[in-house]
Amino acid sequence: MLRLPKFEVRTPESLDAALALLAEFGPDARVIAGGTDLVPNMKHELVTPRIVVSLARIPELRGVGDAGAGWLRLGAMTSLADVAADARVRAQAPALAQAAGLVAGPQLRTMGTLGGNVLLDTRCQWYNQTYFWREALGFCLKKDGTLCHVVEGGSKCVAAASNDTAPALMTLRAELVFVGPQGRRVTPIDDLWLADGAANKKCASDELLVEVRLPPTGPGHRGAYGKLRERASIDFPLLGVATRIELDARGTITDADVVLTALQARPVRVKRAAELLLGVRAEGDAFLAAARAVADQAHRQAHPMPNIPGDAEWRRAMVPVYVRRTLEAAARGAGPVHAV
Ligand SMILES: Cc1cc2nc3c(=O)[nH]c(=O)nc-3n(C[C@H](O)[C@H](O)[C@H](O)COP(=O)(O)OP(=O)(O)OC[C@H]3O[C@@H](n4cnc5c(N)ncnc54)[C@H](O)[C@@H]3O)c2cc1C
Ligand code: SF4
Repeated sequence: MLRLPKFEVRTPESLDAALALLAEFGPDARVIAGGTDLVPNMKHELVTPRIVVSLARIPELRGVGDAGAGWLRLGAMTSLADVAADARVRAQAPALAQAAGLVAGPQLRTMGTLGGNVLLDTRCQWYNQTYFWREALGFCLKKDGTLCHVVEGGSKCVAAASNDTAPALMTLRAELVFVGPQGRRVTPIDDLWLADGAANKKCASDELLVEVRLPPTGPGHRGAYGKLRERASIDFPLLGVATRIELDARGTITDADVVLTALQARPVRVKRAAELLLGVRAEGDAFLAAARAVADQAHRQAHPMPNIPGDAEWRRAMVPVYVRRTLEAAARGAGPVHAV
């Protein structure tokens, strides 16, 4: 049985009090939301905070609401189950509702939060292991070591971004609201990422993610999420595909976007997706041909690493299959796409 190292829990009741604790304890403190990733990582001694600052008692961090001018605000502490079930999210951002509904299993979606999912650490099967296991193999670049077990001679960690909601939020052009010692900042989710598996987000340890904002979408908005995983019940993605299509009144595509995850340290946007789909009606042979062209482009861009479960070549072969199916699902107003 894995035991948790000793730590203290603080439960501030306001954002200011939480920020004050992070400032007081600096690198000894760590934010906890649902704890569904942080607690296993503490058991594995990947992170060893002395003070854990819980956001559970800060009411303004929860819930879905109107942010004005058609924007939706989703509090960072809103559970993934609530995001998946919310009627406004399902109508305005179907790809996000589907992605949230496919994270892990029901218990973890009840505890796990949207903010924790956006800020989820990257994953690697040589890193997400016990201290004993890592010590026996030899530590790696991401923690305590000097080499990478995945890329021989590599000088940068390539652990995989594995958060299901991130690609969906990227297709939706979501914005993130952070608060920190310098005040409040709003950043497009596209600007959050760094291509470094050891620290793949531009977010300081004394900052808090307060909310995720979704811009308005019209009646022609379609979105879907596709997820490849070992078991249909609980696993992290071996591949995640988020798609967005915008249609005019005649059903012709006016804009599109496709973002992939679980391939690299950051989610990857498929190049030329909008160009390849623009002006095509979202049905019939012309649409299928355009969706195949986007799938081929995704295949050219995808180079999965052998650092998460599943043979890397097989995962690469699944990229065009999942891109095409997820685009077709979006066009039909359906989804999600996943193996059962
Ligand atoms: C068996 C299992 C299966 C899983 N499967 C999946 C899966 O399929 N897909 C997937 O995406 N995830 C999966 N997860 C991971 C996890 O359950 C989810 O990503 C969940 O959304 C994490 O949210 P949380 O609230 O529990 O985050 P926590 O564990 O509390 O926090 C995660 C990280 O974010 C930081 N953080 C959290 N909230 C904030 C905030 N508001 N401001 C600043 N920092 C913050 C924490 O300090 C920590 O570093 C799985 C986990 C397990 C144990
Ligand atoms: S990709 Fe390499 S450096 Fe990064 S966690 Fe895995 S083994 Fe460690």
